[in-house]
This record gives sequence, structure tokens and C-alpha cells, in this order.
Amino acid sequence: MKRLLLFSDDQLWIRHTPEGPSCLFDADPAAFALTEPLPAYAAEEVFAAESAGPPAPGAERVTLRALFDLVTPQRYAQAGLARQLLHWRRAHRFCGACGAPLQRHASERAMVCPACGHTAYPRINPVVITLVARGDQILLTRKAGGVLPFWSLVAGFVEANETLEQAVAREIAEEVGLRVTDIRYAASQPWPYPNNLMFGFTAAYESGSITPDGVEIAEAGWFGRDDLPPIPSRVSIARRLIDAFFTP
Ligand SMILES: [Zn+2]
Repeated sequence: MKRLLLFSDDQLWIRHTPEGPSCLFDADPAAFALTEPLPAYAAEEVFAAESAGPPAPGAERVTLRALFDLVTPQRYAQAGLARQLLHWRRAHRFCGACGAPLQRHASERAMVCPACGHTAYPRINPVVITLVARGDQILLTRKAGGVLPFWSLVAGFVEANETLEQAVAREIAEEVGLRVTDIRYAASQPWPYPNNLMFGFTAAYESGSITPDGVEIAEAGWFGRDDLPPIPSRVSIARRLIDAFFTP
């Protein structure tokens, strides 16, 4: 028996124990079609696997975001890695160059093509997210489409052959029509939804008036500590950047 983190449709199975919620199940990894070993954590051997149905009576499915409030930060990070690796494995069954079925690399976490030698490593997409300050206020935006119940920072994918700082300036210009200066790296965070790496920056307002693009951003504005709208939860780097700005 091994310990497994089990997913169905990108949601994680949990069970209720006398010690609290647990996302680990004892099972044989060979019983699952798609499995991936995880780095050892606290001397446990843990696998990620896709489960066709509930792994045990009473098991419940939760999103990874919901797991953040239920388990330790280390376990949440392990589950994030598990979800990211399963997503990678599902999307890399065949060679992107020649179409042959891929095989596991003998020694690295990679899939390799026996026909042409192409190697596919877990893919990571870089995203920049920026806290723009003007005096004691910050720029917050509300996404178009009404999908998120809060306001957040400007964020976007880094494009090919672009520096992180260029991506910061471009995203802010595109989404809200502002120019910024003093762009500084602050912190990073893996964001396994499904495979982003968030690069958190701060920047200072330079010029321009807020003009939401209407496509990605519906509304944007300057907010001070005492008039903040609903903001992202503690799971996100956006919240860390906001809290850091308002905590002297
Ligand atoms: Zn190939």
C-alpha cells in the first residue's frame, strides 16, 4: 500500500478523520490508469493519481483552492504539484513533433519520444502580477464577465521573447491604459491552475488615466486601505502583495 492524492476532473478527494480532513488515501498506485510519483515529503512515499470515482465511502471532492483552508501549507503545496503533474501527463501522451506515443524518461521527470527523441518536461507558464501604487492608493481591477467575486491586481501571461518587466508594463498599458515606472520584483508563487508560475511585482503610477479595455477588465480604480472592495483570499500572491503594501 502507498499513500495517494486522488483527483477526478481536477478536483481532489478528501476524507474526514478524527484528526480532521485528510487528502491522503491508502491504495495501490497500479490500480489507477494515470499515476505520478511525488518527491518525498516528511518521509512519506506519495503518488498522485486520477481516480474514476470516489476512492472510499464518504469521500468528498474539493477544489484545490478549498484545500488551502483545510490542510497544512506543505500538504497544499504537494497537492498543487500533484495536480500540475497530472495535467502535464494528460496533455503529453503523444509526441508534439512526430505524433508517436511518448514514454517515461528513464531518469528525469520527463516524457520522451522513442521515434524522434523529442523530450517533454512539465510545462510552466510565466505570469506577471503587479501592484501599482499611486501615493497611498493601489490600482484594483474587476474582471469582465463577472466570473470573480472580487477585485484584484493586473496580471497576464508573459509573451515570447519578452522580459518580465516588459510584460508588466505591457499588461498595465493594455488592460487599463496606464504607464508605470519603478517596476520591482517582489515575490513568486506556483499557481497550479493548471500550470502557472506567478511573478509578483510592484510598480509606481507614472501617467495616464484609467481606461479599462472592456475585454479582460470591466472596471478599475484607485483604492486606499479604508475603502478596499472585496479582494482575493490569502491563497493568492495578489493578497500577499496587497497586505504587504498596507502593512507598514
Ligand atoms: Zn517524436
